[in-house]
Amino acid sequence: MKQESRQGIYIFLALISGIIVGALLHSDSPPELAISTFTLLGETIFLGLLKMLIIPLVAVSVIVGITSSSSGLGRLGTLTFIYFGSTMLIAVVIGLLLVTLINPGIGFPTSNYIAPELAVTSAKGIFENLIDQIIPGNIFSELSSGNPLPVIVFSIFFGILLSIHRKSSENIISLFRSLFHILMEMVQVVLILAPLGIFCLLAKTVTLVGLSIFTESLGLYMLTVTLGLLIHGGLILPAIAYIFTRENPYRFAFQVKKALITALGTSSSSATLPVSIECATEEAKISKTTAGLVLPVGSTVNMDGTALYEAVAVVFLAQAFGVTLGGAELFIIAITATLAAVGAAGIPSAGLVTMVVVIEAVNQSLGAVVIPVAAVGIILGVDRFLDMFRTTVNVWGDLVGAKIIDKIMPIE
Ligand code: ASP
Repeated sequence: MKQESRQGIYIFLALISGIIVGALLHSDSPPELAISTFTLLGETIFLGLLKMLIIPLVAVSVIVGITSSSSGLGRLGTLTFIYFGSTMLIAVVIGLLLVTLINPGIGFPTSNYIAPELAVTSAKGIFENLIDQIIPGNIFSELSSGNPLPVIVFSIFFGILLSIHRKSSENIISLFRSLFHILMEMVQVVLILAPLGIFCLLAKTVTLVGLSIFTESLGLYMLTVTLGLLIHGGLILPAIAYIFTRENPYRFAFQVKKALITALGTSSSSATLPVSIECATEEAKISKTTAGLVLPVGSTVNMDGTALYEAVAVVFLAQAFGVTLGGAELFIIAITATLAAVGAAGIPSAGLVTMVVVIEAVNQSLGAVVIPVAAVGIILGVDRFLDMFRTTVNVWGDLVGAKIIDKIMPIE
């Protein structure tokens, strides 16, 4: 058996056994030694090594992506953003349809929730924040603080000028190509730890939270989000992929399984990025240009799972507070949930924070604070699992985008 497929099987087994071990260890006072071992191996070592590679890989892959293509960048950018925008909107619509059909919030008791401390941001605030991030003030501090978006912007700018001065910059361009190869090899070395890392990450989550959470009072809400994610990730995205590529999308999903399982284990699109680039270029043979541009941008901007989740969550809270939403509010939710997903960073729980924007917009439209922002506390406890599922759909959406764009405008 090829080493690649053997590793895929190990990662899959790690996923299953992590859940089983976590379920067995789960109790009111989880074993401290197990938790600290899972934290050390899963978070400090495996996740730490992946995070170490994000920023160098973002910068280098974007520069290699841009300098590898001699033309067509404008079209690639336009197609990418059309794909990102339309798939996020489709995801939101699926979420809204399901939540209004299933009505998980009707009759849900809202009296005894714990209000968390949340910074209130408006839609305008999130937009300004995005612009602020897009224009890097000091690229070195952005590199050191690990913010992918400004690094992407700087790298696109830098890459375009390198391409324009291709003749005199040949040495720099080949330096970046070599760096890309070395970084990909580093990813492959880190991935040797993936089975152990994923096992520990999942075992820790399940040990702490337990699986019975699916059957508790928020079960119907979790079911609505999960069903929406399954429909979008399992049917809609594959159908879109098939329409544009005429290839079996599930075979593609199998090729990128390491990235999907890493997303599930880490709840972070950014931490999964090195694995996504590796699977896309090495296993699915997507060109370095397309993967190098679509995946880094997608990991911070394109979040289908988060958009769907935010829409369901806000309508759920509205239902729980006895508010009937009209067409105007649903439309506002569709737009702001998409914007809030774009504004969410590719890190755990980011979507929960940007959801405040959607709640504020609904309140503003209704002219009163009908859903208190602090009501997010109601769904806080079950967010850990939903974050795993939506991050997987976020990463899958990026990969499907890269596949489609690579097919309809092959560059290399
Ligand atoms: N954790 C998600 C991601 O990294 C973002 C979110 O919280 O929805 O893609």
